[in-house]
Amino acid sequence: MLEIRHLVKQYKNYRAVNDLSFTIKPGEIVGLLGPNGAGKTTALRCVAGILRPSEGNVLINGYDIVTDQAKAKAGLAFVPEVPSLYELLTVEEHLKFVAMCFNTMDVFEQKKEELLGRYNLLEKRNELVATLSKGMKQKLSVACALIHNANVILFDEPLIGVDPAGAHELKQEIRRTKDAGGSILISTHLLDTAENLCDRVIILNRGTKMVEGTLAELRQYSGMENSSLEDVFLKLTEEGHEAAAVSHS
Ligand code: ATP
Repeated sequence: MLEIRHLVKQYKNYRAVNDLSFTIKPGEIVGLLGPNGAGKTTALRCVAGILRPSEGNVLINGYDIVTDQAKAKAGLAFVPEVPSLYELLTVEEHLKFVAMCFNTMDVFEQKKEELLGRYNLLEKRNELVATLSKGMKQKLSVACALIHNANVILFDEPLIGVDPAGAHELKQEIRRTKDAGGSILISTHLLDTAENLCDRVIILNRGTKMVEGTLAELRQYSGMENSSLEDVFLKLTEEGHEAAAVSHS
């Protein structure tokens, strides 16, 4: 379960995230959408504990990411937009290293073959991370996120640079994680993917939540029945609607 309460991130005189609140229950996938510079990555980095919020709280399974960091992070995985990996470890060593950090070597032993196989990394298992292609690094980054059985998973543009088979597998993985009771937050510009994958979406603009809801609720809010998420998104962000959350308080 992920709860974000009145999150603010202030960079000197620029407020990148402004009073953002939402909850992701177990078994939900939520899309975080918004134009370039809307504050999506900043919000995700605050949730992941990489940036310290200026105000507000982030609770992972009830634990505050600032004041109870170790317990909060035990249930959390973050797949960043640009994979951040140790280049001088081999693929398998990297997976093992992450499992050791989270004290989940049992999961590593159980899941390593399955995960390496699922992401086409078996033949690269003894190669250095530095030698992997961009898409392979992204796949390893996802595999690392899954090696400690986190139930709150954050994805920042997870499908960029991944080939069609890898993207298909990753979407399946996200659905499997949801079915297993995970709470998943995905930041993306791929609106058709968000439409297919997410239970609801949040549209951020200039750091502020403009709207939150299912596609049906967003259509109703924008007065665009039967439109795609892309059309609704373009209308709402062009019009610059003020914050007005639809349902799901
Ligand atoms: P994109 O879709 O382009 O990736 P985003 O929604 O992820 O954008 P952020 O990267 O969160 O947006 O940036 C939000 C705003 O905060 C931008 O105006 C950006 O210039 C600003 N910003 C980000 N990092 C810093 C920083 N370290 N110092 C000052 N301003 C920053």
